[in-house]
Amino acid sequence: MTDIGEKELLKKLKTNFGYDSFRSNQQAIVENVLNKKDTLVIMPTGGGKSICFQLPSLFIEGVTLVISPLIALMKDQVDSLKANGIPAMFFNSSQSSEEQQEVFNAIADKKIQLLYVAPESLLLLQNVLNQSYIGCVAIDEAHCISSWGHDFRPSYKQLAFLKKTLPEVPIIALTATADKATQEDILEQLSIPHATRFISSFNRENITLEVRPANERIQQIIDYIGKRANEAGIIYCLSRKTTEQLAAKLKQNNIDARAYHAGLTFDERAATQEAFIKDNCQVVCATVAFGMGIDKSNVRWVIHYNMPKNIEGYYQEIGRSGRDGLESHALLFHSYADVIQLRKFIEGTSNQEVQEAKLDRMKQFAEATVCRRKILLSYFGELIEENCGNCDVCKNPPKFFDGTVIAQKALSAIYRLKGKEALGTVVDVLRGAQNAKVLDKNYNTLKTYGVGKETSWKDWQHYIIQLINQGYCQIAFHENNALQLTDFSSKVLFNNEKVQLTTPVEVKKEEKRKVTKITKSTSKNSLFDRLRALRYRIATEENIAAYLVFNDATLREIEKERPQTDNEFLAISGVGQRKLEVYGGEFMEEIKTFLKEKKKNKKDTTLETYKLYEEGFTIEEIAEARGLKAQTIFSHLSKLYLEGKDIALDKFIDANQLKLIANAKKVLKNETALKPYFEFLEEKIPYEQIRIGLTILQKKR
Ligand code: ADP
Ligand code: ZN
Repeated sequence: MTDIGEKELLKKLKTNFGYDSFRSNQQAIVENVLNKKDTLVIMPTGGGKSICFQLPSLFIEGVTLVISPLIALMKDQVDSLKANGIPAMFFNSSQSSEEQQEVFNAIADKKIQLLYVAPESLLLLQNVLNQSYIGCVAIDEAHCISSWGHDFRPSYKQLAFLKKTLPEVPIIALTATADKATQEDILEQLSIPHATRFISSFNRENITLEVRPANERIQQIIDYIGKRANEAGIIYCLSRKTTEQLAAKLKQNNIDARAYHAGLTFDERAATQEAFIKDNCQVVCATVAFGMGIDKSNVRWVIHYNMPKNIEGYYQEIGRSGRDGLESHALLFHSYADVIQLRKFIEGTSNQEVQEAKLDRMKQFAEATVCRRKILLSYFGELIEENCGNCDVCKNPPKFFDGTVIAQKALSAIYRLKGKEALGTVVDVLRGAQNAKVLDKNYNTLKTYGVGKETSWKDWQHYIIQLINQGYCQIAFHENNALQLTDFSSKVLFNNEKVQLTTPVEVKKEEKRKVTKITKSTSKNSLFDRLRALRYRIATEENIAAYLVFNDATLREIEKERPQTDNEFLAISGVGQRKLEVYGGEFMEEIKTFLKEKKKNKKDTTLETYKLYEEGFTIEEIAEARGLKAQTIFSHLSKLYLEGKDIALDKFIDANQLKLIANAKKVLKNETALKPYFEFLEEKIPYEQIRIGLTILQKKR
């Protein structure tokens, strides 16, 4: 066993990272590493993998080598460590030879605790590796070593040598990819077959799941973002073109959006990524190329404009929201056209069957009528007993009704169209559309033409998709996606089998709100806005990402607690010793200024009342003009009266009432609360009058 106790671990966790407690598994993992055992960590994105090797590095003699696939990510991680006062550097091919020499020197002089390295640069470090400076090796995104995984990187193959070169040094491999085959492969490739495995729950409770039909999705997105004025988000699209068109559309609507895809130049992509991370751009419309390097903790929402190819991809993408543990939102737009498009992509690929099966699971998720989180987690082999309560199905369970007649109409239309037409034309025929396609083919003479006029296009689509899911009809993907009958169809058409359908959910129109720009907003309204503006300024000065100063969760806690002393500030989760020293002063200053201004505003508001009073307005008129309650105006006047302003308070109370209150005061003596007076006076004098009476009596004394 390591002789480093829990207390010591917790102390360093607070001093160097600002956290008060470990998240699930973190402590056990840290202890395992400190016991020099090889370790495999499977944790979802945002689960807190970094602590698992960063904390041990503070106790381990020698450098902890961190293998990380992305150069862009490395800099952020190193910045983050430095912000916490932990000496760290990175080493990669983008550095000059002087910079690289600096790294070598720092290692030799034992000046750094962590060194981030890209796998392809490992060879250049051979000399260092052969000496005993290395105390631990952490392999981030370890699934990249597996050619079975979805993200294979050839350069990761070299990592197999690590165990041979450094047999005594514990290796900790970390990834968010859960599947069993990849796990086994990672251990085999790294030659650490006996590594202790720590597999965390994949449930990300803070992400609300929602799926909507894709009708008018651009307008839906504009409304959606309008409601989330200062919240950063990512919109995933299937094609490069869509990312650009969507970004342009959003810009036209004053939304701060940019496109990101692999067709842009390296510089363009880097600029967008950096702007996003630094809170300089609110929305990125991206292909799946965007995300691997995005370690931004305050992404508040992820939209899938198109349906992803599989659940792995979907889960990884939505996992980029809410890494700070605060509430966040994942919205998927579901359209049948997307499914058909994705089918086309898959066709003819080497593992077509596997991919089709995966797409089917994705489709089932999108069309689910039971808790969506259950479906997601069961996909990863994790079962939860209770419904999650935080997905659209849980929040708004589907209502079933007897849809037999609807089913009969749809199926007979499919029958009369001889299984030759796709969903769109079937609906057109049902609704009696007058378009060329229908008329040219004389579909207007069919018996089912127009029998479903009263049902909207959208609803028909919703019903037919359910019929497909229940097996009453099917899509012939190889015959232009025509709808065709199945063996089940006749049961409905001829044997009167009952069909249950769900009513389409109405997507509530998002309330329109004015769209403002993220962060650059100088809104001085809320303390949070001010704290965020300060964070933005500091981050810009230091040229680091805003969340590296403090993440949203920490900022929220500062807003709530309003710390004003070092000790209070240190008690905030996310504030360690160094951050207290470097940022504490400015943040506490901001809080003080805020509180002062608030006080001043209060004073101003009383004076405003006074002005109107002097001009001869009645209480009711003042209240109305100022949008305040009469009660508030009374309290302003009382305050002014006590301050010695010329206010005829006695006008608002009759002499008899005042006498009764004076008597009560004699009996109740030092009582300051109003309720005892109210009761003593047998509930005959309203609270407001009592307050005025007491104010007058107080002044008289
Ligand atoms: P991952 O690498 O697994 O995606 P990170 O290591 O980046 O996750 O951590 C995700 C977020 O959780 C970060 O914002 C980090 O500051 C926060 N975090 C990690 N561990 C803790 C902890 N013990 N207490 C509070 N916050 C934590
Ligand atoms: Zn649910």
